[in-house]
Amino acid sequence: MTRSVLVTGGNRGIGLAIARTLAADGDRVAITYRSGEPPTCLLGVRCDVTDPASLDAALATVTDRHGPVQVLVANAGITRDTLLATMSEDDFTAVLDANLTGTFRVTRRVVRGMVKARYGRVLAVSSVVGLQGAAGQTNYAAAKAGMVGFVRSLARELGSRGITANALAPGFVDTDMTAVLSDRQRTAALAGIPLGRAASPTEIARVARFLVSEDAGYITGAVVPVDGGMGMGH
Ligand code: NDP
Repeated sequence: MTRSVLVTGGNRGIGLAIARTLAADGDRVAITYRSGEPPTCLLGVRCDVTDPASLDAALATVTDRHGPVQVLVANAGITRDTLLATMSEDDFTAVLDANLTGTFRVTRRVVRGMVKARYGRVLAVSSVVGLQGAAGQTNYAAAKAGMVGFVRSLARELGSRGITANALAPGFVDTDMTAVLSDRQRTAALAGIPLGRAASPTEIARVARFLVSEDAGYITGAVVPVDGGMGMGH
């Protein structure tokens, strides 16, 4: 079955790896991007998940070109790390807005079509940090934990309609997001990973592909770690 897929933040990093993996399997894949040129071979729609009007416009294009979204990967996210004592209100709300409220905004807009079709896959890209916390990331951890509550509630609301909703919890992945960390921060992070290395975006994408596949049709409300053992126990 070739499906209409939307990956938010699919122009680079983990989102791009997921988008390319699903496109290689034959899905019709659209990705959002905020600036520059979108990657070729995917349908790029300009969209900021914090801006409802841009989401409406992007989804109209996706529906027109590929049909109603059947598979949503809510991947767009940002960090603004700092200790709580120095965290501004804007640092907190901006991270919540992009990661958590952004997931709400896009999911709410696509579920109606999924309910109608009695089929859908929602996958939110959360983080190990949402489960175990991280010093300097109270904003990000709160947002990522919120995404877990969000998909689990959705799983209960929409399970009877053939829709699954799950969260992926990556650990430390080599992307632009982690490239900004200092050598000291990187070494400290790697020390807490039993496998002793960062993941590649492709390693995350392969698990995402499974979670939105037909083979995962009986998995819903799950939080699936892909973290080299970093968060085990949660
Ligand atoms: P990157 O920083 O490489 O990419 C982030 C993506 O999100 C970009 O495509 C970016 O678009 C998009 N984005 C950010 N804000 C918005 C917005 N307001 N509207 C639309 N798109 C937006 O990060 P990663 O690929 O590493 O991260 C992807 C997801 O995985 C994030 O949710 C992140 O929190 C999560 N994650 C990452 C981990 C890691 O170690 N890297 C670990 C665990 C989870 P643009 O190019 O326009 O900026």
